[in-house]
Amino acid sequence: MPKLVYDFAEGGKDLNDLLGGKGANLAEMTGLGLPVPPGFTITTEACRAYLAARREPAGLQEAVSTRLAVLEGKAGRALGEPADPLLVSVRSGAKFSMPGMMDTVLNIGLNDVSLAGLAARTGEARFAWDSYRRLIQMFGKTVLGVAGERFEGALDKAKRHRGVAADTDLGVEELKVLVEEFKGIVLAQAGQPFPQDPRTQLDMAIRAVFDSWNGERARLYRRREQIPDGLGTAVNVMAMVFGNLGMDSGTGVAFTRDPGTGRAGVYGDYLRDAQGEDVVAGTRNTVPLQELERIDQRSYDHLLQIMRTLENHYRDLCDIEFTIERGKLWILQTRVGKRTAEAAFRIAVQLADEGLIGMAEAVGRVGGDQLGRLAFPRFEADPAARPITTGIAASPGAAVGRAVFDPRTAVERARGGERVVLVRRETNPDDLGGMIAAVGIVTSRGGKTSHAAVVARGMGTTCVCGAEELDVDTAGRRFTGPGGVVVAEGDVISVDGSSGAVYLGGLPVVPSPVARYFEGELDPRSPEAGELVAAVHRILSHADAVRRLEVRANADTPQDAARARRFGARGIGLCRTEHMFLGERRPHVERLVLADTDAEREAALEALLPLQRADFTAILAEMDGLPVTVRLLDPPLHEFLPDLTELSVRVALADARGEPVERDRRLLAAVRRLHEHNPMLGLRGVRLGLVIPGLFTMQVRALAEAAAQRARAGGDPRGQIMIPLVGAVRELEIVRADAERMLAEVAAETGVALDMPIGTMIELPRAALTAGRIARAAQFFSFGTNDLTQTTWGFSRDDVESAFFNVYLDKGVFGASPFETLDRDGVGRLIEMAAAEGRARRPDLELGVCGEHAGDPASVRYFHRVGLDYVSCSPFRVPIARLEAGRAAVQDTATLRMGDDTR
Ligand code: ADP
Ligand code: MG
Ligand code: MG
Repeated sequence: MPKLVYDFAEGGKDLNDLLGGKGANLAEMTGLGLPVPPGFTITTEACRAYLAARREPAGLQEAVSTRLAVLEGKAGRALGEPADPLLVSVRSGAKFSMPGMMDTVLNIGLNDVSLAGLAARTGEARFAWDSYRRLIQMFGKTVLGVAGERFEGALDKAKRHRGVAADTDLGVEELKVLVEEFKGIVLAQAGQPFPQDPRTQLDMAIRAVFDSWNGERARLYRRREQIPDGLGTAVNVMAMVFGNLGMDSGTGVAFTRDPGTGRAGVYGDYLRDAQGEDVVAGTRNTVPLQELERIDQRSYDHLLQIMRTLENHYRDLCDIEFTIERGKLWILQTRVGKRTAEAAFRIAVQLADEGLIGMAEAVGRVGGDQLGRLAFPRFEADPAARPITTGIAASPGAAVGRAVFDPRTAVERARGGERVVLVRRETNPDDLGGMIAAVGIVTSRGGKTSHAAVVARGMGTTCVCGAEELDVDTAGRRFTGPGGVVVAEGDVISVDGSSGAVYLGGLPVVPSPVARYFEGELDPRSPEAGELVAAVHRILSHADAVRRLEVRANADTPQDAARARRFGARGIGLCRTEHMFLGERRPHVERLVLADTDAEREAALEALLPLQRADFTAILAEMDGLPVTVRLLDPPLHEFLPDLTELSVRVALADARGEPVERDRRLLAAVRRLHEHNPMLGLRGVRLGLVIPGLFTMQVRALAEAAAQRARAGGDPRGQIMIPLVGAVRELEIVRADAERMLAEVAAETGVALDMPIGTMIELPRAALTAGRIARAAQFFSFGTNDLTQTTWGFSRDDVESAFFNVYLDKGVFGASPFETLDRDGVGRLIEMAAAEGRARRPDLELGVCGEHAGDPASVRYFHRVGLDYVSCSPFRVPIARLEAGRAAVQDTATLRMGDDTR
């Protein structure tokens, strides 16, 4: 039979699977000789067995009895003993901290008789009655399921009756009445009396803590934090100590460093004459921990010494619960503390400097999400600022601008140099122009995966979505907030994408020093940079030194290319060419589509050639010496033509007026012909290249000529040609042959040797499934994980994200959107298969990823593990990918050292 109960003296911090975090750390501290009240831990295994069988596993009762006897021996008194009772707390504690999500019951062991013993031992009758009152209340609520308001109502009534405000003002007589009343509530509501037998109390409380694992709060929390449901909780039974025995007693929390900023020092709160739950409840005001020095110097010094011990031992920021009972310090809990992003970076480097950890471990202690948060501008803290409303914080940042209510106005005003915030009920792809023009986006509908949220995050634009209290009147160009606040077009508002708050007026914004450092505007070694920037620099430098995965950027313009380079990208993994066919170049595309003869088509392509060449020349110059992967045209052609409805109306109106509209009529016919029911699966990518003669070769010629020009100017151009949406090797072979011919032609014309790799995107399941064959004709694969996710799941992203993804997330179909974090089981399997079969065919095949997943922390670590060569993400996410690639490499070595595979 497995061991179901561990004494605190037996376990240790590495047993947190079995003992939960709280139990493992209590055991660890006991082993360190710290003043922890004695106790024992019932394992998560016992909990799992209980939950599976709906009753206690065999042997648990006996094991608890054995451990309880040991505990009673240490404490020198028996549980609930009438003359001098031992009281215990029964505390939940899972492997992963789930603060406040499960239950704890204090003061187990008190009853009508032992109450007098407790009063006699402590000499505090009021304290004893109050403890009993608390026990019945907590037990009634968490063990017997009585609604908490019943007790609170009775308590309030007693206070009103007595004319006092605080619980502490109730005297013995009132408490006696209240205890009777509470017992009555239990009997009436639970249909059974409050149990007087101490061991019955204990057993019931243990079962209640087991059950609290499956409480609604706990389940919801686990889903959100992606904690597996099958772990179960441990139960800690621990001798009670009392912080509420007068002014020489108290309780508090301490942090070994500031969890907000990471600064070393003494941080925490203390409350005199109180039990732990009073601090959490926030009903009484705590004092800063430093005050304890004045109140009780000896305990304070002792606590500080323990804080140092714990930090040196855990080699990290610890947070600690402690209680002082009549001048004696007790430690009730510790764990590696949660912290802000800023604190995480500073503390990691501080600990490395102090020699507690190495730089590799420091890299492992911070995350890409934290780094991303540090780069966003923020509002200067102002407690007086009151938001109009608070919606869902969808994309972080601080945006101040004039409210506008339609994309056209957004574009117009932005062009005029104004900063605008686009306010919509919700957004759709037609709003894109306005979204790009806006510094911030607010919607009144939709969640974290709504169109607005997803697009905003992709662009790094501040966004608050689902601000349901706002009544957005698009036609009237205004919105109304709670209390009748009206914001009209042109009014200035401030949007906090990190908290979800929307304010009237302009709040002061401070740029992030970390972003200035990324941009190369701040020397990390200068005094102006400060400790945070220096820490970020140290950690990123180390990540760069250890990582194997290369990081490139998705960049379509020279400006983006330059930024990507500043941010540390080593090349462009995806240079999209579609924007090069928009704006003033649209007429050329129209001519291309309308061409009836080869000559007409060639003329249209001829006109595009020099423009396209100039685009490439500038980008190759910015990325000199580094690879630039140019993807040939991907979207369907009708995206470059006028809108079908608009054009129909124009033609109809002109017809009615009897005007000649031959060209529009032809255009309309073409638009109708090219109109697709499902453009995502239509005439695009390589299909377009095969159907429109000369289009792809024009692009290849432009790139080849640009490279030749750069080479002759002394540059080092490293173009690569990438063919999108290939599903069959034959498609690729045809385009490849044309491209090679064109490269040879330009080489002959210019006298410059053009050695340009030609490869393909793998973004269709068929491409992944036939990767071995496709590798015949491809020198590189770039996994287009956006389309690959769409086609693997059969999801049209624009449709599904806003329509039903929140339902899928709620129901746990997936823990995270597969468009945000790569779906390893499905899409990942295709990637692994394609990588293996591609490399088997062509050992030097270069493998990369260019979907949005390339900037997602968990996905980057995955790409490292499956052995890809690089990830290519948006310039803003390049530092995040660098860090995560470093973390993945560090994790590899750490895992090797420990000799186990953590995943
Ligand atoms: P949570 O996990 O929600 O913090 P805990 O199990 O830590 O719950 O307990 C709730 C409160 O009761 C904490 O403030 C804790 O310090 C206090 N507490 C728990 N056990 C004891 C004990 N044996 N003696 C005194 N206070 C205790
Ligand atoms: Mg706690
Ligand atoms: Mg694609």
